[in-house]
Amino acid sequence: MITLEEGELRATEPCEECGAPTFSARGFVYENDDAHAVYLASWSECKPRFIKLAIITGPWGDDDAGIARRKRIGLDADYTTDSPGLRVTDPSESPWDEPSSLSPPMVSRQEALSLPDIDEVFHIADHVVLDDSRIAAFLQTQPDGETD
Ligand SMILES: [Zn+2]
Repeated sequence: MITLEEGELRATEPCEECGAPTFSARGFVYENDDAHAVYLASWSECKPRFIKLAIITGPWGDDDAGIARRKRIGLDADYTTDSPGLRVTDPSESPWDEPSSLSPPMVSRQEALSLPDIDEVFHIADHVVLDDSRIAAFLQTQPDGETD
């Protein structure tokens, strides 16, 4: 069973194209109370129902060798259509490509799609978009499918 623990929410750099307010949130994912993943999410008020995600998978020990084995995968969650779509992205498409102490840099789309646990990454991403209350609140305030 997947559960989330919501972490920091903050206002970040406004949209590069139009200056609309942009937010980022992070949180922790547990599977049966064990550390399972970390997520990073970003959205702009000008892009209804469109969330940029990064999912970082374990191991979650704090030794350096374990950290080096973590994977950071970028995904776009597009809720502008009736059936929500998750698409794995390349680092150049993601705001979450910055180096960080949490994990090595984001893997390419091609590498992500070949990971043995990519289905679990999609599963986690579904939970993040549906269960994180900050993301849910944003999606609820947006008109359905009105992107312009
Ligand atoms: Zn914009």
